[in-house]
Amino acid sequence: MAATPYALYNSGLMKTGLAAVLGLCLVSPMAVPDEPAPLAGFTADSARAERDWEAKFRAIPDAALMRSDMEHLTARPHHVGSPYDRENAEWLLERFLEWGLDAHIENFSVLFPTPKERLLEMVAPEHFTARIAEPTVAVDPTSSQHDEQLPTYNAYSIDGDVTGPLVYVNYGVPDDYQTLERQGVSVKGAIVIARYGGSWRGIKPKVAAEHGAIGCLIYSDPRDDGYTPGDVFPAGPYRPKDGVQRGSVMDMPVYPGDPLTPGVGATADAKRLPLDQAVTLTKIPVMPISYGDAQPLLAALEGRVAPAPWRGGLPITYHIGPGPARVHLKLKFNWDQKPLYDVIARIPGAVYPDEWVIRGNHHDAWVNGAEDPISGTIAVLEEARAMAALVKQGWQPKRTILFCLWDGEEPGLLGSTEWAEQHGEELARKAAVYINSDSNGRGYLGVAGSHSLEHFINGVARDIEDPESKVTVWKRAQAQRIAGEGRMGSPADRADRAEARTRPDLRIGALGSGSDYTVFLDHVGIASLNLGFGGEDGGGIYHSIYDDFYWFTHFSDTTFVYSRALAQTAGTAVMRMAAADVLPFEFHDLADTLHRYVDEVERLAREEREHAIERNRQIDDGLFAELEDPRQKTTPPPKESVPPFLNFAPLENGLAALEHAAQAFDQAAAHAAANGGASLAHARLQDVNERLLMVERAFLSSGGLPNRPWFKHQIYAPGLYTGYGVKTLPAVRESIEQKQWKLADDEIARVGKVLENAGAAMEGAAQALKQATM
Ligand SMILES: [Zn+2]
Repeated sequence: MAATPYALYNSGLMKTGLAAVLGLCLVSPMAVPDEPAPLAGFTADSARAERDWEAKFRAIPDAALMRSDMEHLTARPHHVGSPYDRENAEWLLERFLEWGLDAHIENFSVLFPTPKERLLEMVAPEHFTARIAEPTVAVDPTSSQHDEQLPTYNAYSIDGDVTGPLVYVNYGVPDDYQTLERQGVSVKGAIVIARYGGSWRGIKPKVAAEHGAIGCLIYSDPRDDGYTPGDVFPAGPYRPKDGVQRGSVMDMPVYPGDPLTPGVGATADAKRLPLDQAVTLTKIPVMPISYGDAQPLLAALEGRVAPAPWRGGLPITYHIGPGPARVHLKLKFNWDQKPLYDVIARIPGAVYPDEWVIRGNHHDAWVNGAEDPISGTIAVLEEARAMAALVKQGWQPKRTILFCLWDGEEPGLLGSTEWAEQHGEELARKAAVYINSDSNGRGYLGVAGSHSLEHFINGVARDIEDPESKVTVWKRAQAQRIAGEGRMGSPADRADRAEARTRPDLRIGALGSGSDYTVFLDHVGIASLNLGFGGEDGGGIYHSIYDDFYWFTHFSDTTFVYSRALAQTAGTAVMRMAAADVLPFEFHDLADTLHRYVDEVERLAREEREHAIERNRQIDDGLFAELEDPRQKTTPPPKESVPPFLNFAPLENGLAALEHAAQAFDQAAAHAAANGGASLAHARLQDVNERLLMVERAFLSSGGLPNRPWFKHQIYAPGLYTGYGVKTLPAVRESIEQKQWKLADDEIARVGKVLENAGAAMEGAAQALKQATM
């Protein structure tokens, strides 16, 4: 364990506040060299005990054991509804029970379509039938398990049998369709082919259908994860010619989880929507294909040459079409209910049993899933084994710890969503944090999540040693931010670098969607984190049959030291959160980031206005007619109505109230420190903790986001047109992006009120802390 640089904790009032409050004997760590740095939320005595237990914990995770766990869990395909998915769940449960943990499997029954019929053929100008299959690779033993492998498909595509001209639409995001429009290309009645990337895959068929397409193909271009970035499997880690990215195309930005049971747990007797009322299914049939299958289709396109940024890595000239290539796509699915097996283990809290610290990762995969998800699953398993060992040595967390290994993440966050919907009322009262991971690899610690946990997780990262460089994982993440992949030039790069050098805490990213934290953060309002290492081990096996033990042990974290580092990082976070006298939330960093978000949406509105004015002027001046290439005709963009000025005052007032409350919390901490932190009665601390636990909940609004009431958090949400990509202050930002000015004005007022409410919750916590330390 690396020494903690004290100076980083001592960087501001708020940063030292809680530590000082509860540091009952206020001995400066500088004066006593052996004294470890204080821990926010702990008294000096409890911090000492905590650091001892954490050190014991971090010595336990064992790379060799994690390797054999992975080998076992990836031995056969284990998608939802497969025999090995169930066997894995039962094996995981046995491990928990064997270690003496209170554990069980919780079942749900969900809609999970699997392919019955798949056909893709080009019918003109020549005939070609797509292979749509991934071949065995001789050196890779599990790649031959074809009887158990799910075929290549996109889950929750509707059935369809369509024939039409082909159009290449780049990533298939809204901007791409604007480009097509200017080129005079319509996709009405066409089948579009989009490449993976640029958005979450489920956005592509959604936007295609909105523009009148009748079918959608999504292919993996070799420029993105094939032979352009590196050698292909099995010579290297990248996607081979016939490798296909399976994946869900459910409209998750509307609601994730079982399409038939929005908002409630998909128990056996739950009330279900009829299939034709499930709005999260696609509107048109969609199928993923390899670049081996895509190349003949793309090569047969004529029409305009694709704009430079649209061109991929295939050895062809990329044309847009439409046609003369015509394709026939036929898809039929089994629309079956399948069982889910969520594996849940519990270590009861000794002091605050009704405050929960939840740790999770999924266990289901598209096929064998070594990287996604077992590289993360084995970390959670090791954390549970290590903490169970500590319990036997007498360790007792103050709060209850839950280890959750979710089923059904891949099709649509099914296991976590259904579980959290089923236990929503209890979670809303008890859950303090949710800490997620998914895939893990070699490299730098990546953290995203609630900014009320930014300071906390920075503290944890400063206590974990990087297995390769031996500096702390925090230091290494900072170095990466400063070096920034050699970006030196732009003012934004310089600002990022300066911030990474000087800001006491590394700024964490916001969460969109794409893993199991979604329901906890966005629906229930539980402060959440997502953790994982990566950045040094590229590859192109994502959601293919080649994401398996052979690939992982040849090309990724081959020595499993980063799986161990993930267990150490997440486990330390869980233990520290579960043991703190006062929940170590912090609102200074949060207010700082919220200020940025408010500035961003104001700038966005300004830019939209300036852009419309300039564009209209260009049209009025006849610029597009003058620029027109008579041999490459384009349609000028349409004139836009100029956006009105929006009234941002309610948002700014809400932010000011929240900033004031964050400061009040600082002052309460300082006040308590001045009083020596005397008489910390248990009952009073409990009141502080209960209030702190509820602060994140105050960011919810019961009606949710416009047109998607399931998403209740008003600071973070996956974008309606980005999918995984986050939209912060989503109601305001998206209404501006979609030029809905009246809605934007209303949402500014509503979200301003939400910020005020969150400020009031912080203010209440500050008062309670003052009371507790009078
Ligand atoms: Zn995953």
